[in-house]
Amino acid sequence: MLLTKGVRIIELFEPNFFGTVLNHNITVIENGPSGGLMIIDTGLPGYLNMIENGLKSFGYSIEDISDIVITHYHIDHSGNAEEIRKLSKAKVYAHELEVPYLSKNEQSFNLFYEDVKNELKVSKEEFESTLKRINSMEFTPVNVDVKLKGGEELGDFKVLHVPGHTQGHIALYNGEILIVGDAVKNVRGVISPPFRFFCWDYVKAVNSFKLLLSMRFKYLIPFHGDIVFNF
Ligand SMILES: [Zn+2]
Ligand SMILES: [Zn+2]
Repeated sequence: MLLTKGVRIIELFEPNFFGTVLNHNITVIENGPSGGLMIIDTGLPGYLNMIENGLKSFGYSIEDISDIVITHYHIDHSGNAEEIRKLSKAKVYAHELEVPYLSKNEQSFNLFYEDVKNELKVSKEEFESTLKRINSMEFTPVNVDVKLKGGEELGDFKVLHVPGHTQGHIALYNGEILIVGDAVKNVRGVISPPFRFFCWDYVKAVNSFKLLLSMRFKYLIPFHGDIVFNF
């Protein structure tokens, strides 16, 4: 889908996410800092073909990617980053605080049913099967070429450090478009901070959420849920 000039979204779907289907919005921007496409977040392991098909529908291929930005280390954002890096020779960018998690060859979430049930209507069976699915995925560690701190410019976009969901979570902003990863979600018409049970520090996550929503934007692109239009 073409959102606005030079900015496109590949929407992928993750079934069996605590009893619902979760969407993933991968943003593809022309004129990345290294001259080709800049892709923001990369979906779950095994989604590479779907990303390839999405790019093909725009007239592009994996090899056209020159820059890969990972908003945070979670597997649904970093899943295909290393494969894309190898195929395209693109540079990978992530906040320095995410690098230790991205370089491990395992990601495992230790969640508790009670915490998840407080925020989502989910049965014990759905909870267990989702956790098992997430924790059994094969994660390929990611080599980060450029470690960020926040404040850098990537093409037209500025890097914002918005901690809370994870320690080194980043967003990208060009004055019009705000790409927020998991710092904001917009699911079923409700704009909200990330799930508490998935947060490194929920108080910081809420502060980052408020900061992002207080900014001027035309398009806010969450990784999960619907794009927020604000004209
Ligand atoms: Zn996340
Ligand atoms: Zn996510």
